[in-house]
Amino acid sequence: MPVPLFKSSLKPYEPRIARRLADVVASGRYILGPQVSAFEEEFARYLGARHCVGVGNGTDAITIALRAVGVEPGDEVVVPSFTFYASAEAIASFGAVPVFCDVDPATFNVTRETVERALGPRTRAIVAVHLFGNPAPVPELLELGLPVVEDAAQAAGATLDGVRAGALGTAATFSFYPSKNLPCLGDGGALVTSDDGVAERARRLRFHGSHDKVTFTDVGFNSRLDELQAGVLRLLLPELDGWVERRRAAARAYADAGLGELVSLPEPAPGAEHAYHLYVIRSGRADGLASALAARGVQARPYYRRPVHLQPAMERYGGRSLELPGTEEVARTHLALPMGTDLTRAEVAEVVAACRAALS
Ligand SMILES: *Cc1c(COP(=O)(O)O)cnc(C)c1O
Repeated sequence: MPVPLFKSSLKPYEPRIARRLADVVASGRYILGPQVSAFEEEFARYLGARHCVGVGNGTDAITIALRAVGVEPGDEVVVPSFTFYASAEAIASFGAVPVFCDVDPATFNVTRETVERALGPRTRAIVAVHLFGNPAPVPELLELGLPVVEDAAQAAGATLDGVRAGALGTAATFSFYPSKNLPCLGDGGALVTSDDGVAERARRLRFHGSHDKVTFTDVGFNSRLDELQAGVLRLLLPELDGWVERRRAAARAYADAGLGELVSLPEPAPGAEHAYHLYVIRSGRADGLASALAARGVQARPYYRRPVHLQPAMERYGGRSLELPGTEEVARTHLALPMGTDLTRAEVAEVVAACRAALS
């Protein structure tokens, strides 16, 4: 039985989405209108934060958040190397300097210790990525006395000690790219904060550095969530918790089916409810396992085999001289298995049977 890595959750919502899009088209308001303001209010309330600022995508959200918390060109920002490239690109794109830190292989995330080792006199902020939907230890990072920007692109619906990912740090950023836990129909993103000043600067930065469209006080961006996407996101936000519950049920099904006897299962951080954007296991035979699964029609893939500090564009900030043993280990051993809101028991059983056949 073929099992895809990922299936869209949107099929049942297509008629309502089509109606919502038609309503926005008929409204004649396409940029920074009532849908965006309403979504910003609803998403901030959902997360338990004071402000949400809709932007063009999750990458811009990180850059704007960093600038809004006061990072300037030449300042250093600590970021894990084991993440999607954009987490670091968003730092370097405005002339700040990414300083790569290690991760704990058990959680795939930074720890207070790995971040502490990367701090220096020019460090101005920390980007804490909630990788694969597992919350990073943001409260401990805040004790280091620097602004912490959560890269929550993969973590919509996750919580840490009852607080939602996105309401833990100085600011947080989300992506609504179609495969993320809360998707839109193209590119979209948001920045969330409970700091009034950070929110005010972010609002200005997303609109060319102006708060009134006539006075321009910053060199900013043209990066806005648009009305069509916000209209769709307002329809889907009420589904998010139910979707994430279904992802958690699929994760429990993998454990119940004995997958843990074959590979290392993803470990929710202490106090965390994982959002399972991706279901990523570790195995010393990850590549062989992926080929064996593919031969049976089960899709599985590594995401970050080459960590960011070893990417060609990041050579000046990283390279082979950086010692990041946790990163190297997980880069080699991680493998994403099928996960989604509609993964069936039968599909889980097939994936586990295929792993068992491949590894024993
Ligand atoms: C998807 C993603 C981003 C970037 O989001 P875009 O909307 O594609 O720009 C940033 N960081 C992480 C960890 C992501 O997964």
